[in-house]
Amino acid sequence: MVKETKYYDIMGVLPSATEQELKKAYRKLAMKYHPDKNPDEPEKFKEISQVYEVLSDPDKRKLYDKGGEQAIKEDGSGGGGFHNPMDIFDMFFGTHSRERQRRSKDVVHQLSVSLEEMYNGATRKLALQKNVICEKCEGRGGKKGATEKCGNCRGSGVQIQIRQIGLGMVQQIQSVCHTCRGQGERISAKDRCKNCQGNKVVRIRKILEIKIERGMSDGEKIVFSGEGDQEPGLEAGDVIIILDEKEHSFYQRRNSDLICKIQLELVESLCGFQKTIRMLDGRELLASTIPGEIIKHDEVRVVHNEGMPLVKDPQVRGRLIIHFEVKFPNSNSMKRDKLAMLESILPPREECIISDDAEEVTLEDYSRHHEQRNYYRSHGHMYDDDVEGGGPGGVQCQTH
Ligand SMILES: [Zn+2]
Ligand SMILES: [Zn+2]
Repeated sequence: MVKETKYYDIMGVLPSATEQELKKAYRKLAMKYHPDKNPDEPEKFKEISQVYEVLSDPDKRKLYDKGGEQAIKEDGSGGGGFHNPMDIFDMFFGTHSRERQRRSKDVVHQLSVSLEEMYNGATRKLALQKNVICEKCEGRGGKKGATEKCGNCRGSGVQIQIRQIGLGMVQQIQSVCHTCRGQGERISAKDRCKNCQGNKVVRIRKILEIKIERGMSDGEKIVFSGEGDQEPGLEAGDVIIILDEKEHSFYQRRNSDLICKIQLELVESLCGFQKTIRMLDGRELLASTIPGEIIKHDEVRVVHNEGMPLVKDPQVRGRLIIHFEVKFPNSNSMKRDKLAMLESILPPREECIISDDAEEVTLEDYSRHHEQRNYYRSHGHMYDDDVEGGGPGGVQCQTH
């Protein structure tokens, strides 16, 4: 049990989430709230970074589960406070969100990919907008020698505003010079390049061809080096594509294993069956029991080498894991006079010895009973610890 669920709610996961699930949750939220994509909610970006920082660290997560947010705030062992959200983002994606000395920043895009595409391999096209150096002026923004120092910031690129905040106190606010947008220089209107309006770069649409290889997985990165925005005097950063695996209607993936559920009628479970399974490449597999074999409810079977292909060697595949669910007939759906026939071939009952003072009870529907007592929580999970482990006793026999 965790003390509070706030951090898990922020990430949109359950407190039981695995490291993998947390990573995926952070990835989705970080892509959504990164200031490049969503400049209006910097606080949200900061919040998810800090929460992820706590939950991705096993020690800090333990501390949070035990003591909640308060414990995290009071924790002195962490070396003080949180990292910059951009650094967390960069560590996670392997990017450089801020411009480094000679390189423009990297750009991350998420690409939604189906399980079929990851199984069979695919090529996808992604159109993106990017800045390239203007060809007309070769990135100068105007005629040669037309640039002059910005008068507003005197070439520094920053402007300082002084604001009175009462009682003789002043506050200095430093911001990017908006006359030259931090460039430190400007070109007079008449000398500006007509093609880029003096911006030195123009925005173009570029199509990237993304090769999804067989067996690639959720969260995998494909790097297009030097495809980021171009800027005069800087080496272009990278475009990084992150694969986001779509949920499949039939298969669930766990690393190189594929997991599926197959429902059996009771007659199939007891008397045998043949089932076809459609694979992700369209092939059909036939699974059947041998005569006399019984598959029980919740039983799990494995087909080797029919899971996801391995990236290193696509000829080798993981496992296909089949989880069987046996459907039981509904009450009164079988003719009562035939039940004796059924009983004659089923394993015999255990005899029930009833004492004289045994009290007769009614077996009520469990879920209805629970709803009445409001044991359902808002998110639909059932807290049924009140039915487990109750004192002496237990089921001793079955009666008619
Ligand atoms: Zn300026
Ligand atoms: Zn130009």
